[in-house]
Amino acid sequence: MTSYARAHASSFGRILAMPNTTPPLVTAREVLEYRRRAEDAAPGLEVLTAFRLMPGTTEADVRALAAAGVPAGKYYPDGATTNSAGGLTDWRQIEGALSAMEDTGTVLCVHGEDPSAPVLDREEAFLPVFREIRRAFPGLKMVLEHVSSAAAVRTVAESDGPTAATVTVQHLLFTLDDLIGGLLNPHLRCQLLESLPVRTPGQQELNDYPPCPLHFFRAGENLNPFQNGIGTGSR
Ligand SMILES: [Zn+2]
Repeated sequence: MTSYARAHASSFGRILAMPNTTPPLVTAREVLEYRRRAEDAAPGLEVLTAFRLMPGTTEADVRALAAAGVPAGKYYPDGATTNSAGGLTDWRQIEGALSAMEDTGTVLCVHGEDPSAPVLDREEAFLPVFREIRRAFPGLKMVLEHVSSAAAVRTVAESDGPTAATVTVQHLLFTLDDLIGGLLNPHLRCQLLESLPVRTPGQQELNDYPPCPLHFFRAGENLNPFQNGIGTGSR
């Protein structure tokens, strides 16, 4: 994280660091310590840090995090991506926490993948869960992270309430053909996988919602695929 913050401080004024570290960032103390290390490594860079929502995260936990100035929490379905083991299997596990996030204005960042679905269908399979949470908490600020499909773009654009999406550069630059169309190119692997077969993530859909305020940039670790070895991607 410190080298990542240092490397990007010249290009970006502010980052939101994700909490799927080992161990995960769960408490305010852990989140703030992580933020301090990143800020020390990159003076001048504003570092925002999300906490990880766990099956046991309570309303009181969220209120303590919000009081400490932590602006966002991230939802990882159990086993969906890097370091997500022990994650959520049902959003109702954290109903109280989500209610407190809505109440305190804490942003819910969602890793939208259903790990039980076939790999190319995982994002679309998770969208009903995203919509359920959206309906249950109308005032909750929700971000669907690293959208990679037309269905995800449509879901965000057509959602009521404060809803946004992030888009990774990886998903704008590459398609499934780039990954496996000729020789396998493992350095292009990214979780979520590039979609098929045209340019992503439903680029046409992004264009269909101009001037859409709902999509903003996201830089995943996939910008530096060698940092943690082959297979590391956006998280
Ligand atoms: Zn993610």
